[in-house]
Amino acid sequence: MEINETNSNDEALLQNITKLLLSNQGNKITSDINWIQNKIENYVFSPSSLSTFLSCENEFYYTRLLSIPSAGNVYMAHGNAVHKALEKLSLLWINHEEKMDKETFIQHFKEHWFTQRGLVSEEQYKLKLIEGEKVLSEYFDKRVPEFYDHINSFSEMQFDGQIAGVPFKGKVDKVHFTEVNGNRNNFVVTDYKSGSFKGSKNKFKAPGAKARNKIPFNISDNSHWVQAAIYAYILVKQNPTWILNRIELDIISPSNSEMEVLSHPLDQEDFKFIETLALRANERLNDPNFPKGCGKDSCKWCHFTKTYMPPVEEEED
Ligand code: SF4
Repeated sequence: MEINETNSNDEALLQNITKLLLSNQGNKITSDINWIQNKIENYVFSPSSLSTFLSCENEFYYTRLLSIPSAGNVYMAHGNAVHKALEKLSLLWINHEEKMDKETFIQHFKEHWFTQRGLVSEEQYKLKLIEGEKVLSEYFDKRVPEFYDHINSFSEMQFDGQIAGVPFKGKVDKVHFTEVNGNRNNFVVTDYKSGSFKGSKNKFKAPGAKARNKIPFNISDNSHWVQAAIYAYILVKQNPTWILNRIELDIISPSNSEMEVLSHPLDQEDFKFIETLALRANERLNDPNFPKGCGKDSCKWCHFTKTYMPPVEEEED
């Protein structure tokens, strides 16, 4: 079997995976209804898989149910290194027992970025090293002084819960507690994003009434807000004594050499909307017509379906 050797290209990767899957299993990945049905019945959403579901059912079907991987890129690799440094910084802030200086923080980024060196060109490696150092230095100067006011903070907090009966699990980048009017149970959910500065800002907008009532809901403008609101929802439901103060988005954009912190309070209407999204997605997932692509040949996953997926053949009795 001829396999395309280019591994940095999404299209080539998809072609190769499809060849392997089909050569081993015939058309099983589309025709083994019981296997897929079992995956659907036991599916546990995460905030990001819900986001994928709401933006493209076909993409969800291939990447989340059938687990077809996508090719990484320099931005993802760089984002991981930035994220790892932020994770280390939060970890060392717990109980104020140990604090991290700026040099150590940047060093964590450099070490993680070094592990990605084989995935990018030498030129990209050097450029992104400088960009990362610059933006994280700015982040440290602007953000860390506030950390002294936190009562406690938790990095990579895992959760496992339900939204209106729909199972969810995931990991929150950071949760910290602050004191408000003598109450030390006020908490803040923080999510980190290292993509495009403008794009991240736009996606953290709270959806307006018109957008919320539209079916299907167009998540593209609000995906970061939805993700953080899901974290907040589950933590509030699981911890009745905790009081949600706000959700925050720390945008650390090395390519744009910019960082900013955005925040929103949330109310009961927001939580009701999150429940509606979870219920609608679960209903669609269990609909016999799922997945229902929009059918545009120019769009990646519909093109993939038409080009590589053989039609499902009816089984003979
Ligand atoms: S056209 Fe197809 S690939 Fe594009 S968003 Fe719709 S379902 Fe997804």
